[in-house]
Amino acid sequence: MSAIPQERRVVTAIPGPKSQELQARRTAVVAGGVGSVLPVFTARAGGGIIEDIDGNRLIDFGSGIAVTSVGASAEAVVRRASAQLADFTHTCFMVTPYEGYVEVCERLAELTPGDHAKKSALFNSGAEAVENAVKIARSHTKRQAVVVFDHGYHGRTNLTMALTSKNMPYKHGFGPFAPEVYRVPVAYGYRWPTGPENCGAEASAQAIDQISKQIGAENVAAIIIEPVLGEGGFIEPAKGFLPAIAQFAKDNGIVFVADEIQSGFCRTGQWFACEDEGIVPDLITTAKGIAGGLPLAAVTGRAEIMDAAHAGGLGGTYGGNPVACAGALGSIETMKELDLNAKAKRIESVMKARLTEMQEKHDIIGDIRGRGAMIAIELVKSGTKDPNPEATAAIAKACHAAGVIVLTCGTYGNVLRFLPPLVIGEDLLNEGLDIVAEAIAAV
Ligand SMILES: *Cc1c(COP(=O)(O)O)cnc(C)c1O
Repeated sequence: MSAIPQERRVVTAIPGPKSQELQARRTAVVAGGVGSVLPVFTARAGGGIIEDIDGNRLIDFGSGIAVTSVGASAEAVVRRASAQLADFTHTCFMVTPYEGYVEVCERLAELTPGDHAKKSALFNSGAEAVENAVKIARSHTKRQAVVVFDHGYHGRTNLTMALTSKNMPYKHGFGPFAPEVYRVPVAYGYRWPTGPENCGAEASAQAIDQISKQIGAENVAAIIIEPVLGEGGFIEPAKGFLPAIAQFAKDNGIVFVADEIQSGFCRTGQWFACEDEGIVPDLITTAKGIAGGLPLAAVTGRAEIMDAAHAGGLGGTYGGNPVACAGALGSIETMKELDLNAKAKRIESVMKARLTEMQEKHDIIGDIRGRGAMIAIELVKSGTKDPNPEATAAIAKACHAAGVIVLTCGTYGNVLRFLPPLVIGEDLLNEGLDIVAEAIAAV
């Protein structure tokens, strides 16, 4: 693991003077639309710590949005990517191919659910993977409609904005959006009118009814869902929902796409979150955690579906860059060696126990949910289920000031999410949670 001391250290105000100076330079030249959760500039990062240029060491409960599951400077990622850098940086796989790309596709075929023949195509970002999953599903089915869900997030390109449910900040003023995209209800147990017990069955029935009546199943190319919804608020679809939707897709020749870009690669204590209900998706999109921080994404799925697009129809200049592929192989090696699925489950048990204690004291914690190291609390106004984005922002701010990086999410901006690197030490994890507890008590 990294050589950075694994301890929190706050030696200046946050952000400190050097970060503030850089922030001024940044404001002059970086487009205002590109935000930052916390304007402390990074000097180095690894394990569970991000060290800033003022010498502060922050506990990382964000992993660069679920990316650096193996840490931000994992030994195997650095070693393999450095060696690849020295050999060659790029040839373009579409010009002269290289082994790393093939090896990543072999790993994806082994690790993704199902024992059918699988193929993959590699890209640079999650949004690009989702777009290509749609291209492949349309080629295969010769149909056009795409079904997505309330609270879903799939990216910021034109098609993936259309697939994303939340207006601000992702879509506002950026339309018109791609056509033939339809949104149906998801099984959000905490907010389901008749309660979480009925939610899976009722929500799936509603979704299926809308697809059948409003679109026509025979017009649908793909149904795309996050097995745990990420930006939408770490919503775990109530039990029974995913299997019902997957079965409906199967019965109607619709390509079932699991968007595991945030939930995949050990994040939820499984290689892929859909394994928890025994789902075998036709296609699966991956990115974020795949390559230890290097930009890489993939679509993996049934060979006959993946081969539907004509030769030359898929690709991109940088897709499956050799350095990123080397990073992915290092990242997967680390996940296996350190058994990061077990680590994620351990993080879940520590976090849920601590958060439950906090909930007993503070009734603004309406819900605790998530799996593995993808855990969130939904904050509400005392004695109600009304969203409490103000408290959420205040708690996040207090955590940042004390040297703990936390992120928010949720359609109502009232979810505090925790995505620590899976390699974080348990002492750091507990110290971070102490600070979260203090922040909640103060609000
Ligand atoms: C982050 C994310 C994306 C988009 O990935 P980018 O690499 O930011 O384009 C798509 N789907 C899900 C579920 C995500 O969490």
